[in-house]
Amino acid sequence: MNAKSFDCDVIIAGGGPTGLLTAYLCAEAGITARVFEAQPDVGLDLRATSFHPPTLDLLEESGLTDELIAQGILTYSWQVRLHPSGERAVFDLDTIKGDVRHPYRLQCEQWRLQRALVARIARQNNAQVEFARRVTGFVQDADGVTVTVDGVQGPETLRARILVGADGLHSVVRETAGIPFEGEAFPETTLVVTTTFPFDQHMEGIGIVASCWTEKGNIAFLKLRDYWRLAVYLKENRTVEEQTTPDGVEAALQEIIAMPDRYPVQRAWPYRVNQRIVPTYNIGRAVLVGDAAHVNSPAGALGLNGGIHESFELVSALRDVLKNDKGLDRFDLYTRRRRPVVAEEILGQAKRNRNRMREKDPDRRRALLAELQAIIADPEKHHAYVRRASMIDGLRMAAAIE
Ligand SMILES: Cc1cc2nc3c(=O)[nH]c(=O)nc-3n(C[C@H](O)[C@H](O)[C@H](O)COP(=O)(O)OP(=O)(O)OC[C@H]3O[C@@H](n4cnc5c(N)ncnc54)[C@H](O)[C@@H]3O)c2cc1C
Repeated sequence: MNAKSFDCDVIIAGGGPTGLLTAYLCAEAGITARVFEAQPDVGLDLRATSFHPPTLDLLEESGLTDELIAQGILTYSWQVRLHPSGERAVFDLDTIKGDVRHPYRLQCEQWRLQRALVARIARQNNAQVEFARRVTGFVQDADGVTVTVDGVQGPETLRARILVGADGLHSVVRETAGIPFEGEAFPETTLVVTTTFPFDQHMEGIGIVASCWTEKGNIAFLKLRDYWRLAVYLKENRTVEEQTTPDGVEAALQEIIAMPDRYPVQRAWPYRVNQRIVPTYNIGRAVLVGDAAHVNSPAGALGLNGGIHESFELVSALRDVLKNDKGLDRFDLYTRRRRPVVAEEILGQAKRNRNRMREKDPDRRRALLAELQAIIADPEKHHAYVRRASMIDGLRMAAAIE
């Protein structure tokens, strides 16, 4: 088959944040891309809500950073605290002002990034997003990939030079390519709750991003413009079903601060956390990005940010393969740059954050808090800690790998 028979350079399975960003960056690089998204539109479910400083630097050139900042709120610190005493360790993002152009974290829903990308892609003539179309499989040969896409008009077969699997946790591209997804599902279930209850008026000094040990468990507090989003770690000695009924959710909130009235809850839903990563990011012309390649605990807000960093790295590889006559082994460098950094700086950090917050013993909690406070008291250690937690180290490590 010759080049004329290709429908586009790159087919992207999945129109989540990484698929859409990959398509947009491809279009900017003069690579034609078609995104197929199984859902009928951008899903408004609440997932990632934090954008780290280097992510804001990366998105700046496209104007996305300013567009998202206009829709979110900025925080210049984050904290780990003991509830109800309010003792805390507060990390200050000002310490990294010499490392990045945006020394703050943005709190903004990930669907806002997706919507902004869909609008940008619509203005490009070499990229498009097709909703309600599911990639069901593919075969590859020496020249390209033949991809089957389903939709209301029935299955269609398309040809591209590269297939990108940005199709998330249950990636069809990863499974069809036979790439294992190594790791584990954590036993605990987390309950995500959104509420307009003003925690800042009831918890002295609580920041916009706060991980709290509570008497009976732990809760992550994340403030968005109009509401708080809480990740409540459910109790393992009671069923998920009983803890996720309206009364179960109310009981969990009443445990934080007892109030005479019911809490104003907008939404509440449980999710299970997986911690997995692929051994390789590609098999020939099928290449993975984002959650299709790795998933982790949300503790530390690293998953989406890692996927965004990866899209930039992937498009640099695609540019080399499709525009600069580099062979498919260019994707080896993509794996080499991403896999160790993701394993240690994303999965490793997320797991350490999760384990710290799961500690139940009061003395051990105080010791952990004291360790964090000691880090903050030492300017060099504080700087190093914030730099790493903000994913600056991971990006630098990846860039240094040849
Ligand atoms: C509750 C929750 C909270 C989170 N909080 C944070 C956070 O605070 N910070 C952070 O950085 N990360 C967080 N994450 C992780 C973050 O949401 C993901 O890392 C991010 O969504 C990954 O983007 P993605 O585009 O790779 O995959 P996804 O967002 O999963 O997108 C994949 C897309 O592919 C589509 N799809 C699937 N199969 C097919 C197919 N066969 N054909 C076509 N389309 C298909 C899906 O419909 C979906 O739209 C959170 C995740 C969850 C679940």
